Amino acid sequence: MKIKVFASGLLLSLLMLVNCDRGQSKMICQINSIEDLKKIFPKSVKEIEQNVEKIKNITTESVNEILSIPNDKRNFKNTAKAIDKIGEKTAALAHSIVALEKVSPEKDIRDAAHKASIEMSEFHIKEVSTNKKLYEALKYYYDHQFKEENLDPEEQYFVTESIQDLERMGLNLPEEKLAEVRKTLQEISTLEQEFQQNINSDKSQIEVTKDELKGLPEQVLNSLEKTADGKYILKADYPTVNGVLDHVEVEKTREKVSRMFNNRAYPKNMEILKEILIKKNHLANLLGYKDFAHLDMENEMAKSPENVTKFINNIVDKATKKAKNELKLFSENNRKFFDKNGKIQPWNISFVKNEYKKNHLKLDEKELTKYFPLENTIKELLDIYQQFFNVKFKEIQTGGFWHQDVKVVEVFKDGHLISYLILDLHPRDSKYSHACDQPIISAVKKDNKICPSVSLVIANFPKSTPNSPSLLTYKDVVTFFHEFGHAMHDTLGRTELTSFAGTNVKSDFVELPSQMLENWMEDKEILKKVSKHYQTGEPLPDDLIEKIADLKKFDSGDFTLRQLQFALLALGLFDPNPEKDIQEFWKSISHKLRDYVVWDPESHFVASFGHLASSLYGPKYYGYMWSNVFAHDLFDTIKKGGLLNGNMGQKYIDNVIGKGGSQDPNDLIEAFLGRKPSEDAFMKDMGFE
Ligand SMILES: [Zn+2]
Repeated sequence: MKIKVFASGLLLSLLMLVNCDRGQSKMICQINSIEDLKKIFPKSVKEIEQNVEKIKNITTESVNEILSIPNDKRNFKNTAKAIDKIGEKTAALAHSIVALEKVSPEKDIRDAAHKASIEMSEFHIKEVSTNKKLYEALKYYYDHQFKEENLDPEEQYFVTESIQDLERMGLNLPEEKLAEVRKTLQEISTLEQEFQQNINSDKSQIEVTKDELKGLPEQVLNSLEKTADGKYILKADYPTVNGVLDHVEVEKTREKVSRMFNNRAYPKNMEILKEILIKKNHLANLLGYKDFAHLDMENEMAKSPENVTKFINNIVDKATKKAKNELKLFSENNRKFFDKNGKIQPWNISFVKNEYKKNHLKLDEKELTKYFPLENTIKELLDIYQQFFNVKFKEIQTGGFWHQDVKVVEVFKDGHLISYLILDLHPRDSKYSHACDQPIISAVKKDNKICPSVSLVIANFPKSTPNSPSLLTYKDVVTFFHEFGHAMHDTLGRTELTSFAGTNVKSDFVELPSQMLENWMEDKEILKKVSKHYQTGEPLPDDLIEKIADLKKFDSGDFTLRQLQFALLALGLFDPNPEKDIQEFWKSISHKLRDYVVWDPESHFVASFGHLASSLYGPKYYGYMWSNVFAHDLFDTIKKGGLLNGNMGQKYIDNVIGKGGSQDPNDLIEAFLGRKPSEDAFMKDMGFE
């Protein structure tokens, strides 16, 4: 996962250095030593509050300075670049606070950081990204001096993208209409919070006997609460729901759990969603778009709902063939779950897949972990990055951060220190429980000087003790490689403008580089390099490597169709007809893509599909599949040149990640491949014909 701190969009992103140069040729980097690095993270609630004030002051001062320039004196530097610089000057202050909310062991710091994050975000939106006067200043420059100035492509792209971003917020509209846009945005935001809140606070639960849980793994069973009369309580959390659907042998229990899970926040959220759809459609119309999907996707790599629909249909055809074959194999293994037309109940699918795995693809996950002892695995994973990206890592022995587990790695390229990576890899109470990368200071080109960027990588791997080494699951290994890939994108994407640095890219492109890197972990030679049995020192044997590959493919058809179902649902809900019957619409898509699954009229999945009520996703669920498909294309090309080939890595940096968001990602990919991207490699890898 890639954490975007504030809303996306050029002027909304608050990334970058603080207190760097003020335009003089001799500039000093904000971080010149490990001691500087420690200082950017506040140590107290008071310091957090002071930093928020600093951010506000810097922002207000910068905005006033831009507005005070007479229109006829405007140029790129004092207007466009000055807007970009607001992010640069405040980013470290802001991002260090956002990071502490996830990792600080102290509750009062986490709470203060949470409060500060909301405050900073609201302030930035009000004073910068929806500031009509600031838009008018930039627009004046755009209509006049911009055409005369000799700008490089990155600068030109920044100005035009910024104008478009601001106009998509309605800043070009007359005051009355703009007020309507703002009011609608506020109403949508409130409804979206309510939608998420209803999912999070859902208290659905059912009670079952131990017999009704036959087959549930001990670990999940032992974690369940019990009633006074000894029954087990099943709640709608993922470990419980997945445990039951995968393993419990009693069909009635699976049915009940499936319905409980798929009725979270029902019926409340159906009404709220309808209101959101109507308001978003209204918003799009106010801004001159035919529907919200077109408004929201115009600035993405995919560019339009039509392009995405075409993309999806192309994959659906091939995935369907594979899915039908899969279903045939599953039914041969478990005939009783399929009716005479070959259809299966939704609560039986995971179970049937799991039974098939047990009989045909038995992979002892525990055995696999023995090949991935933490220290050696991380060392080898980092070595892949060193070779492919031509960088050198050096771990610094240091304390002084929020917890003693925190490690710092210096990154060198061509002899220059280009980045500090902060690694916080072990679990502890109240720490953010997923893996993620968060940029703190972005990589920006500064004349001839390289100022180090800073990124934080968070993970939750068990710690080694003297008696038992920490052993990673295969999934952990892939996750670490993925998240660290984001950090490398932060590090190597060095641009002139803060708004484009590193992972400041289109939202349907941001996962692509890391999804691509995940493919390294399926390559035989790479897996041999990364693995080392903690007792025998042996690398992974061939048969285990083959099983990993087989497991990935065994249900790729059905898995892909399920993802595309969600993508089509999200896309279609934001079309020009927001008042459609949502449940009926979902039914029609379900039937179209996975007609082998029996429709359950008593389930209302859409009510808890949180992505729909999120400003980052909404109609854009397709992004996962979109970036994954093109990631396969890039990987296929790179693999031909060698997965540890530094020249290949450099070509990839020069053409793709090194450009950050300073060019349209379609152009970056095409420049690297020397042709338009294609779905072929993905299809082949998934076993689609
Ligand atoms: Zn990610």
